[in-house]
Amino acid sequence: QKNNPYYVQRFYFFSLYDKGIQMDKESWYSVTPEEISEYIASIIPNSYNSTILDAFCGCGGNSISFSKKFKRVFANDLYEEKIGMTKNNAKVYNCPDNIIYFINDFLTLNLEGENIDYVFLSPPWGGPEYKNEEIYSLKKWIIPDIEKIIEKSLKISKNIMLYLPRNTDLEELANIIYKYDKNDIESLSNTILLDVKYLNPASKVKAILVSYGPKYNTVKVK
Ligand code: SAH
Repeated sequence: QKNNPYYVQRFYFFSLYDKGIQMDKESWYSVTPEEISEYIASIIPNSYNSTILDAFCGCGGNSISFSKKFKRVFANDLYEEKIGMTKNNAKVYNCPDNIIYFINDFLTLNLEGENIDYVFLSPPWGGPEYKNEEIYSLKKWIIPDIEKIIEKSLKISKNIMLYLPRNTDLEELANIIYKYDKNDIESLSNTILLDVKYLNPASKVKAILVSYGPKYNTVKVK
């Protein structure tokens, strides 16, 4: 705790932090703060009748908020330890019993037979160093490969949402989405519609939320 610069923000990350929340080293700089994850869950249309995949669930910041607003949540992470933390933290928050857990590389995750309305993506930003970039290239920093993430996501649902650094190169992102969703874009001009929300948390995390797909009704031309 003494060497953890994020510890002062613990109740901002989880208001119930002292009720038994579990986090690991990576979680301290990558968890979505509660107020932000609540906001994200609240703006997704028709959530109570919908299902959502939290493809990179980490210690559960987003999944906890989704659980309270969605019919069903699919929470996935590459590591068993993270799923353990998400399970524990969902219990701390008294989440309904509607979270289904997967431990898998998202790129090979098999969700056959499941009906998924939304995919939420908070992939690793490449460590805290992302802040030093003037323009943040997803292709350079995001692990695993952003193109593969987008390609995979669009196969699961046409409604995707990404939680990304505020300095993200949106044109690069638009081009990647265009590449993998060309067939469904009616317009012949290579313009796609992204809804970009700048999140202004009290924490040092400076993020944007990018939504793409027919279920999101407010769109800005990019
Ligand atoms: N939104 C989460 C934090 C996500 S951090 C929260 O609020 O807690 C990114 C997560 O992606 C990490 O937990 C990491 O283990 C996971 N991850 C990294 N590579 C992955 C992959 N290929 N497939 C699935 N999860 C992966």
